Amino acid sequence: MSSPSPIVGIDLGTTNSLVAFCDEAGPRVLGEDALVPSVVRFEDSGGVTVGREARERAAEFPGRTISSVKRLMGRSVTDAAAALRYLPYRVVRGENDTARVEVPLGAGPRVVSPQEVSSLILRSLKERASKALGTEVSRAVITVPAYFDDAQRQATRDAGRLAGLDVVRIVNEPTAAALAYGLGAGVTGETGERIVAVYDLGGGTFDISILRITPAQAAGETSFFEVLATAGDTQLGGDDADHALMRLILGDDPESLGHADRRLLQREAESVKWKLSDRETAVAEVTLSVGARRTEITRADYERAIRPLIDRTIEHCRRAVSDASARGAVAIDRVIMVGGMTRTPLVRREVGRQFGLEPYIAVDPDRVVALGAAVQGSILSGSTRGALLLDVIPLSLGIETVGGAVAKLIVRNSTVPARAREFFSTSVDNQTAIRLSVFQGEREMAADCRRLGEFHLRGIPPMPAGIPQLEVEFLVDSSGVLNVSAHERRSGKRAALQVIPNHGLTREEVDRMERESFTHAREDMTRHRIVDLIANSALDLKWIGERFQRYQHILEPENRVELQNRIDELRSILERARTDWKSVDADAFHRAKEALDRASMRLQEVGIAMSLRESPNRLG
Ligand code: AMP
Repeated sequence: MSSPSPIVGIDLGTTNSLVAFCDEAGPRVLGEDALVPSVVRFEDSGGVTVGREARERAAEFPGRTISSVKRLMGRSVTDAAAALRYLPYRVVRGENDTARVEVPLGAGPRVVSPQEVSSLILRSLKERASKALGTEVSRAVITVPAYFDDAQRQATRDAGRLAGLDVVRIVNEPTAAALAYGLGAGVTGETGERIVAVYDLGGGTFDISILRITPAQAAGETSFFEVLATAGDTQLGGDDADHALMRLILGDDPESLGHADRRLLQREAESVKWKLSDRETAVAEVTLSVGARRTEITRADYERAIRPLIDRTIEHCRRAVSDASARGAVAIDRVIMVGGMTRTPLVRREVGRQFGLEPYIAVDPDRVVALGAAVQGSILSGSTRGALLLDVIPLSLGIETVGGAVAKLIVRNSTVPARAREFFSTSVDNQTAIRLSVFQGEREMAADCRRLGEFHLRGIPPMPAGIPQLEVEFLVDSSGVLNVSAHERRSGKRAALQVIPNHGLTREEVDRMERESFTHAREDMTRHRIVDLIANSALDLKWIGERFQRYQHILEPENRVELQNRIDELRSILERARTDWKSVDADAFHRAKEALDRASMRLQEVGIAMSLRESPNRLG
């Protein structure tokens, strides 16, 4: 019997993404170069380049190099307005105000969804994991910021599906970090219950979560990871610090932003930011169309510029602590720092001050989330026993009632999976259809919350207002994804809503994209095959060409002509393949190779050449 496919853990980050796996030896990040920049470049050929190469050459291919796409996942253009100002690629409005990316390609613009872009990153991580583990990986736990709402979670799931991954669980990033800390990569020697806060400031999002970890007291017992409270902001992160620095670099002259290459400017700002984590001053050099500008920035200037951002994170911390104390957390024992931005000294100082504790930075903040996701994967696959993760719902869920208020069925910080039921009725006589609008958020009025979707329950027999008994059930699964159903008890009518968020993808879109991704997969495979052929044949040709030059005198005249022709033939195919791989028919390529092989038989017989087909170690 073959063993089931492994479950890997994926941290799909705004800036970088990682894939990890956990076995008996503990969790580890897969792939040589652990961090894969979350950057995708679309090629004219229809292919894509993902990761470091795409990031490094972003300035050469502006517009078609897509970064920070996590900021657009499951968002409308209106929601993402603040981030849009700085994105160097074009974001357009899709249906329902949904954010879409328009990529200028040779054949005309191509409009892609943020989910598709993310799926390309996931696909690359999937390949890397399959290679590292030596087996096809098709199941994953993917992390999201705790504060991601339902639309953003669904979007992440859809991206996984497009990448050919069965997303077995969506886990909150800070919870994953706590898992890694508590079970795998973390400190040992701590026993007994402890309350930990996870402060996670990444490229685009901020999360704070407070967890109670109850380690197993004896072998065979279960460890509990219970999230007590979570808070955060999905539009607050290191990118905002870059933007603050960009303003400092430009000397608060917004006009000059128009003259700057935003991508280069942001890169320069980011590099200054990193320097200021270790030094007191750094110099930014940018070229604007009005001339070069050199600005010296001190850490104090920088800290002043980002203080409002950090203060916002501290506000969220206060709220989470107060929510957690309502659930019995007395004192925080440890604060774990996660996310690249927590290398900023001001962040460490302020967090330390807020919690009265030295922040814990022993687990690499870039890797801890992926490691935790891998731990969760191993729990789900049954290879790590005795741990139970109790995550929470980050934002309350409810139904809009008459007058526009929201009746909350499941309140924020409820443990998942969660189920809630409530009865509703009609507000006018003889109402035969009821509209149910589902909202998420903490505010009282629907207009101030996020609308997740709506559905209708029709065919209710006419009754006076208030008589129908409509039972509405909310069910949030372990990944935090919501299903809503309604049942009118007197008539027996039922309706259910798989919450397809307004800013997400419709099922049809996902199906279409999935089909397209298969098409691309085929094209990618063909390309792969041709690239391999080119690499192989170039070596073969070099080898045979050299031998031919030296030993042609031993060949019969016809064989000499034939071999020369075959060498020329393959050489010309190779030339063409190098410039335009699509024009090359892989089978014709193979046939030419085989013909060359046959023609060089005589050289092979005398041991001068070798058989092309059996030549080993050719694949790069
Ligand atoms: P993450 O989303 O966790 O990968 O965090 C990425 C964010 O951390 C980006 O905004 C990076 O610029 C930022 N970052 C990475 N290294 C440093 C550093 N040494 N100092 C300050 N910020 C950093």
